[in-house]
Amino acid sequence: MQPLKPGATIGILGGGQLGRMLALAAARLGFDCHVYCPEPDSPAFRVAARHTVGAYDDAEALATFASSVDVVTYEFENVPAAAAEVIAACRPLYPDARALATTQDRVAEKIFLSFGAGVEVAPFAAIDGEADIETAIGVTGLPAILKTRRFGYDGKGQAKVGTLDELREALERFGGDCVLEGLISFESELSAIVVRGADGLAEVYDIGENRHENHILSETIVPAPLAAETLAAARALGLAIAEKLGYVGTLGVEMFLVRDQGEERLLVNELAPRVHNSGHWTEDAAVTSQFENHIRAVAGWPLGAVTRTAPVRMLNLIGDAAADPLAILADPSARLHLYGKREIRAGRKMGHVNYLDR
Ligand code: AMP
Repeated sequence: MQPLKPGATIGILGGGQLGRMLALAAARLGFDCHVYCPEPDSPAFRVAARHTVGAYDDAEALATFASSVDVVTYEFENVPAAAAEVIAACRPLYPDARALATTQDRVAEKIFLSFGAGVEVAPFAAIDGEADIETAIGVTGLPAILKTRRFGYDGKGQAKVGTLDELREALERFGGDCVLEGLISFESELSAIVVRGADGLAEVYDIGENRHENHILSETIVPAPLAAETLAAARALGLAIAEKLGYVGTLGVEMFLVRDQGEERLLVNELAPRVHNSGHWTEDAAVTSQFENHIRAVAGWPLGAVTRTAPVRMLNLIGDAAADPLAILADPSARLHLYGKREIRAGRKMGHVNYLDR
């Protein structure tokens, strides 16, 4: 891969907060960004040199967009395969089509993790309709979690099911095409934010512990308050997965820490082929942020150090929590990030705060 020249244009599919923070990081390195998103007034549009309002199934608009940029990346994994094809035919796409295909389908992802990368995942079975129920429950037992194979996020498209009737009802509600997962009794949820360059050099940030509220990430604490061996194992897992995928860019790896009669195990829950909410702390407490390193990787530039510079707690501002920014800034250790969304709505991620030295 030829490194991009300063002043080159990076195309970003998706105009939400992740696209916005990617565009800001790219601007600092002298790149222009062209953001493509179906929603007018997207948060990333207002910080990018160019934008296009277009649908992900509009092949002509996608091809025009791709031909206007030097390389394309994305802020979310649900880029339709057909859109990725149109783009990849025209310009380099990072992370590549394989990373997208593997991570946008929960079954493909689990098959890759368990058979391709040798990583432990929750017991799982694909389940499409009534005929699959008995076999699937044989694998996972009950209670279990039913998830749609695609398009799930922040707990959407998933249901905990305790009985056969609940499973049938949820499967019908989701319209089939699901995966049934064994319910894991975990001690904590962790994430590894890995970045890998086109030259194969990879780094992993310090491991964070994640806390959720109503299925939405609420806070990430770094370093996770766990034994050094556990943190080392989580880092090694993240690096091994990026390596096996031949990945280029920032990768989020969500894990469960399980304790079985004193013995620890790490199970991988989910991969995100993009910058990740649990890596937002890196903007203020790491030498190089996950956003800048993603941009460097897709530009073919050398990665920056991922060294953490302070203990940090990242708090998501969800809905009304963002209503009074001045009150948040009354604490001088608060580093505030607002996404410029026009309207506060319940459950909507409006911004985040990094509290340093906590
Ligand atoms: P996901 O959309 O897969 O990231 O799941 C969202 C959240 O649901 C996770 O962060 C966990 O808190 C919980 N969860 C997901 N899968 C499982 C599982 N197999 N067992 C227990 N909890 C789960």
